[in-house]
Amino acid sequence: MLESCDVVNLDFGSILCEPDQPFKHVYFPLTGFISLVVAVKGHQPLEMGLIGNEGMLGVTLALAVYNVPLRGVVQGSGTALRMSAVQLRSALRDSPILVRRLHRYLYVLMAQLSQGAACIHFHEVDARLARWLLMTHDRAHADHFHLTHQFLADMLGVQRSAITIAAGALQRSKLIEYTRGEIRILDRSGLEAASCECYRALVADYAEQLD
Ligand SMILES: [Zn+2]
Repeated sequence: MLESCDVVNLDFGSILCEPDQPFKHVYFPLTGFISLVVAVKGHQPLEMGLIGNEGMLGVTLALAVYNVPLRGVVQGSGTALRMSAVQLRSALRDSPILVRRLHRYLYVLMAQLSQGAACIHFHEVDARLARWLLMTHDRAHADHFHLTHQFLADMLGVQRSAITIAAGALQRSKLIEYTRGEIRILDRSGLEAASCECYRALVADYAEQLD
């Protein structure tokens, strides 16, 4: 499979797939990460899932479906392995192990999407922000990343002022440092304690299916 892949750059903000367009390529992030967002008329796109080097964009090919009902947008610049959709389909025909593996990842992604919907509906913004920062931290391979309040507000589907309040609370608890859009994780275990249960549920699902 590696021989069929190219290493490509993932540039912040690049759109890699749209709901109505079939995949030409699938992506296995190495250092960058990709957000799955849903666009609803009159609103900013809302983030439903996050894909880093634990996963891939384009896993629905394992179901012989050539698109995903979400937009895939690069949220963390970095690199990825890119493979053509045709080559992945051919690899899937040859390898039942690969099919099983991708089916398990599909399950994990499905869990992430449904847990995300419940999280948006039931959990407070500060706990959701903590969860989001943990998921990003896991995929960013760095303790600090650049994120504006407006970007965070759009991703979490809340007002910018709600992010200012939530980030301020995490900062006062010395879990993060946040200046001019630069977020630094100071206390990872404290942030885990501040997150809603969704983060732990997602980590457990992944460990059960894929570790
Ligand atoms: Zn939650």
